[in-house]
Amino acid sequence: MLISFGYKEEAVVVDAVNRVIGIDIGGTSVKAAIVEQDGSVLDEIRLDTDASRGRDWVLSRVSEAVRGLQCSYRDTSTSEGIDIRALGIATAGRVNVESGEVVYATDNLPGWQGTHLITWVRENLALRAVADNDANAALLGEAWQGAGRGKQRLAMLTLGTGVGGAYMEHGLLCRGAHWSGGDWGHSILFPRGLPCNCGKKGCAEQYVSGSALLRRAREYTGKQYRSGIEIMKEAAHGHSEALQVLDDYTADLAVLLVNISVTLDPEAMIVGGGVADAGEVWWPLLEKHLQLLGARTEVNRALLGNRAGIIGAARLAFELTDA
Ligand SMILES: [Zn+2]
Repeated sequence: MLISFGYKEEAVVVDAVNRVIGIDIGGTSVKAAIVEQDGSVLDEIRLDTDASRGRDWVLSRVSEAVRGLQCSYRDTSTSEGIDIRALGIATAGRVNVESGEVVYATDNLPGWQGTHLITWVRENLALRAVADNDANAALLGEAWQGAGRGKQRLAMLTLGTGVGGAYMEHGLLCRGAHWSGGDWGHSILFPRGLPCNCGKKGCAEQYVSGSALLRRAREYTGKQYRSGIEIMKEAAHGHSEALQVLDDYTADLAVLLVNISVTLDPEAMIVGGGVADAGEVWWPLLEKHLQLLGARTEVNRALLGNRAGIIGAARLAFELTDA
């Protein structure tokens, strides 16, 4: 499936200025955009990842997305495809930002671990590139253009299939000694709790991810929910069971946020990902639980939605071209 969000069907002629492509590679979709230096998006594209087809297939999707964007615009000075200065990559998994290697990935992207992204881009797309974990990129995006604007010390949680996390000091991402800085999804929230795909038991991801929300709702109500939006809608209509599920869910999420707050003391924490985008109804419940726990750090919802990763990846690419 190919979806282009271009403003024109025909190739468009534009002036040559500093532009990069930001791309976000996830287990479900590959999203990419041409981004200008002020953060505005010129064109964007989304492809299904079809991750089960393996690493080479996913890389071919990256290639298709980048080439598709390059061909959708023309440069006035050369009449050729638009001049892209660099490619910024956000990807699920842990990334060695210095070498561009994916040093750890789950089965959401089979075979992805060990992929040398920067080398692959240089050899196959002839572009300079930089790669980072998707939660790091999302925080960078929110700090640049979203809920973290103007702040230097930020922490972020992304609540989707899993739980991603990232934090920055003095405006710089803290990636850790093994590229797993901010990986609060695998901090233990309930000792001896539910088994996690990382091998431990009781990880936060098993309680506060979007997948965990669906499981909790199914266990509590006996109903099958296809998405968090369905739970949010029921809660918004005052269904007591759905409200109770969200109340329990936000109570656990508040514990995780307060733990982050007391250890890092950030100016603000940002909550993003699919759950954050799914509805408004759960936010007052989270605020209630944060208050009950005496949280002093402000907690804000992410503003960039599912674009945070591509915007942050683009920011990384601009930093590369400035270096
Ligand atoms: Zn875990």
